[in-house]
Amino acid sequence: MELRSRIPSGPIEQKWDKHRFEMKLVNPANKRKFTVIVVGTGLAGGSAAATLSELGYNVLCFSFHDSPRRAHSIAAQGGINAAKNYQNDGDSIYRLFYDTVKGGDFRAREGNVYRLAQISVNIIDQCVAQGVPFAREYGGLLANRSFGGAQVSRTFYARGQTGQQLLLGAYQALEKEISRGGVRMFTHTEVLDIVLVDGKARGIVTRDLRSGAIEAHAADAVVLATGGYANAFYLSTNAKNSNATAIWRAHKRGAAFANPCFTQIHPTCIPVSGDYQSKLTLMSESLRNDGRVWVPKKPGDKRRPNEIPEAERDYYLERKYPSFGNLSPRDIASRAAKEVCDEGRGVGETGRGVYLDFADAIHRLGMQKIRERYGNLFEMYQRITDENPYEVPMRIYPAAHYTMGGLWVDYNLMSTIPGLHVLGEANFSDHGANRLGASALMQGLADGYFIIPYTIGDYLASAKLAPVSADRPEFRDAVAGVTQTEHRLLGVKGKRTVDSFHRELGTILWEDCGMARNATGLRRALGRIPELREEFWRNVTVPGTGAELNQSLEKAGRVADFLEFAELMCIDALHREESCGGHFREEFQTPDGEAQRDDARFAYAAAWEFCGVGNSPVLHKEPLAFEYVPLSQRSYK
Ligand SMILES: Cc1cc2nc3c(=O)[nH]c(=O)nc-3n(C[C@H](O)[C@H](O)[C@H](O)COP(=O)(O)OP(=O)(O)OC[C@H]3O[C@@H](n4cnc5c(N)ncnc54)[C@H](O)[C@@H]3O)c2cc1C
Repeated sequence: MELRSRIPSGPIEQKWDKHRFEMKLVNPANKRKFTVIVVGTGLAGGSAAATLSELGYNVLCFSFHDSPRRAHSIAAQGGINAAKNYQNDGDSIYRLFYDTVKGGDFRAREGNVYRLAQISVNIIDQCVAQGVPFAREYGGLLANRSFGGAQVSRTFYARGQTGQQLLLGAYQALEKEISRGGVRMFTHTEVLDIVLVDGKARGIVTRDLRSGAIEAHAADAVVLATGGYANAFYLSTNAKNSNATAIWRAHKRGAAFANPCFTQIHPTCIPVSGDYQSKLTLMSESLRNDGRVWVPKKPGDKRRPNEIPEAERDYYLERKYPSFGNLSPRDIASRAAKEVCDEGRGVGETGRGVYLDFADAIHRLGMQKIRERYGNLFEMYQRITDENPYEVPMRIYPAAHYTMGGLWVDYNLMSTIPGLHVLGEANFSDHGANRLGASALMQGLADGYFIIPYTIGDYLASAKLAPVSADRPEFRDAVAGVTQTEHRLLGVKGKRTVDSFHRELGTILWEDCGMARNATGLRRALGRIPELREEFWRNVTVPGTGAELNQSLEKAGRVADFLEFAELMCIDALHREESCGGHFREEFQTPDGEAQRDDARFAYAAAWEFCGVGNSPVLHKEPLAFEYVPLSQRSYK
């Protein structure tokens, strides 16, 4: 396997322009002769499918949801970054680039990140033109707020529903193309394999979730925009259906998987309250603009928050990181919360919680202003906890939220399988070892609206693709493989539910490959995961049949994949003997407890090649060079 990143030469500001000029074009009249499969209709897939169709390509678009607008992107709350500098507070493309490389703890490609910062400004124009109702100032200009890891206000938002409004924009564009006939939409359809012909991605195998029909679809190129894998942890802030199946099965077909251990634990989620929960709820990072994070100074202090006087509170983020304070980046804020809870100063029944307090902001700005900014988030919190955050501080705790790892892609967003492109959270992306808040929506839309429309044309114009149809043996074999896996899952007829396996796997990952990791714990997980996988295939129970709507069967396939994938996560975490961003190895920390990188040994993206279930994967390294943002110890103090 060869990793060719294809980063264009030349000054960083000119790379993307130069590349766009050098890439081959498909003549407008020839575009309709090419068929592109797009899997996923979140911000990345929805924007890509609509744009490719507008360009004239023939698009087949797939989603397991009942409507494209149900994609998990709809859950995004806080906002989307762009280097518009509307606030005149010192922002620029260069600063967004700099903040993102530094925020990612120097484990992302400079060339990609610079392009992302450049494109960010176009995204806002595109979305405003579509009618996305971004928040505005009194005079009509678009409003901004701040997110973690930045000292400027560059986050555009639509209350706490930014993802929903952006997705409605992409969805309208997609629906227009569906009705025009440029996109053929397959809802309720799960992609279960990728088909290669002569080493190139030429199609997919799907299961109709209502009838159970397994079918093959052929195309000239395949785009996966299937989201992240945080649900490997079982409890996460992701939509319950989000899973790793499409990217994992592509990995098994030859796509390298990069940095799987780079997972993001978000500091502000509603704490776990019991075993009955199936998911966790995020409280947007935007709340840290006005909320102050604190715990009691004294361990074991059981007084109610309002009874604890100011002098007996520890505003630990403001104390430890005076320049960024409550807006310290997520990895740092999460670890700081864990640290105070480990010291016995956590709050709430479980002791795994810290306060996010709005009393000062309400006093300063008034109730009405806070309601305008965060009303829907406060209401959501109250409905879930039955506590009124206007009167008592919210209780929050870190939870699995986002995955920086994903399929390795080159500058053109193509994986190591020619023709297989990967967008949005599904690729290993531009966020390095830690994503800054409000940057995932930016990346997904940059990939879908502005990058893939150019780069896929270059591939199609250069690849010399012979026509293929879905009756070829490669497609028949892949359909047979998917059918066989389904029969195997239904045939075990054991005693344990799919969920109980998933929950146990999640606990293993959270304990040993979560917010803090060490070699002993990772080795323990690497012993336990294969045992759990073996038990799954011996003892799982999947009721019903394959020829009907069967959600247990759907889940079983996804959990079977998580049980394989989790091993790779732990292998990656064990091999990376350094701490960076969300990957905190307890053995590698500075004297004051911050992440200690080892640039001499680990300034690379780790891209793993699949060698069979249970076999050791092969590591390929893409070295990362930092010419514009000099490598330095990340500090937010
Ligand atoms: C609660 C929450 C709040 C967030 N808030 C913000 C925020 O404020 N700002 C920000 O920048 N980021 C935020 N994020 C992160 C951001 O929302 C996601 O990273 C982003 O929306 C992912 O978009 P995507 O298009 O890559 O994938 P998704 O939106 O997850 O879409 C995946 C699509 O793929 C389809 N799919 C997946 N697998 C298959 C398969 N096998 N077969 C068929 N279809 C498949 C699904 O049906 C879906 O259509 C938040 C995340 C969460 C969990």
